[in-house]
Amino acid sequence: MKDTYTLADLDSGKPAGAAEANPIRLGVFGDPVAHSLSPQMQNAALEKCGLPMNYARFQINADELESALRLLPERNFMGVNLTIPHKLAGAALVDELDGSAQRVGAINTVRVDGEKLIGFNTDGAGFSRAIRSEFSVDLRDLRVLLLGAGGGAGRAIAVQCAAEGCERLVLVNRTFEKAQQLAAELRPSFSDTRVSGPVSRLEAVPWEEHALRFQIANSDLVVNATALGMKRSDPSPLAAALLAPHLMVYDTIYAHARTPLLTAALEAGARTANGLSMLLHQGALSFETWFERDAPVETMRRALASAA
Ligand code: NAP
Repeated sequence: MKDTYTLADLDSGKPAGAAEANPIRLGVFGDPVAHSLSPQMQNAALEKCGLPMNYARFQINADELESALRLLPERNFMGVNLTIPHKLAGAALVDELDGSAQRVGAINTVRVDGEKLIGFNTDGAGFSRAIRSEFSVDLRDLRVLLLGAGGGAGRAIAVQCAAEGCERLVLVNRTFEKAQQLAAELRPSFSDTRVSGPVSRLEAVPWEEHALRFQIANSDLVVNATALGMKRSDPSPLAAALLAPHLMVYDTIYAHARTPLLTAALEAGARTANGLSMLLHQGALSFETWFERDAPVETMRRALASAA
């Protein structure tokens, strides 16, 4: 198998060649895609379950996405994952969206059903499972402060928090209007009053130290869904002085074991986890979507740990 395939490979039918013992029938489309750890995780799951096929990386740019998706049924694919920058565009190109994908307006998983393509979003549910496995708590019992509410991952997480009825949700985003817009959209899910004290269940707050200090004092879980921390030179989105020992801090970034935010959180005495568990659980849910059976999560976790 090659490290990365292209649209031309998919078009020629080469990767899915029926002559191969384990033809490629799953993959991830992205641009860039070379960093993706999904092949290691999904191929370990396929092998563990005795499913005779492979999962591969496909370097597909925005202009190629529609053609690549339309080739999937005739190339006998089970489905694909979509990553940056295809999650929003993909939702408009498939034939049907399941409930989670409709709510988020973006997809990370496509399942081929005969000639039809069905879109799913497993990022939010994957995040929820990650929080349960990292901190042994359910989202519905948490007061959540979400940084990066205007991005794709942030939106999927916010929609999941609303669907599970979390105790309270504070939306923070560099471009404040996007957080305000999302708050307006999610308002109906937070109509009953469950928290007591000087705070409301759903708020969009500007990215300002004073406002954040007050909100963090009234939160249990702080989530980073911004891109801040992807580069080694990035600053922490929150200073250690704003964090406190009562917090759980989850960084969706998995490129580094310890991001600047997690370093600051550990300094403040908080509990921390990085985004590898979200990657694992969104991938396990994709596997379950394609095969309608439980995913071998421990096998996938071990494959990710040795690839990361
Ligand atoms: P995206 O749609 O491009 O959103 C980027 C978000 O980051 C926006 O909210 C943006 O704010 C914010 N942002 C970017 N640069 C910033 C800066 N310098 N200061 C403050 N905020 C900044 O990207 P995405 O796909 O949602 O990905 C966001 C993060 O989630 C990435 O770090 C990615 O690694 C992570 N992620 C993890 C998983 C997982 O499985 N663990 C899955 C998906 C994504 P504006 O709205 O103001 O531009």
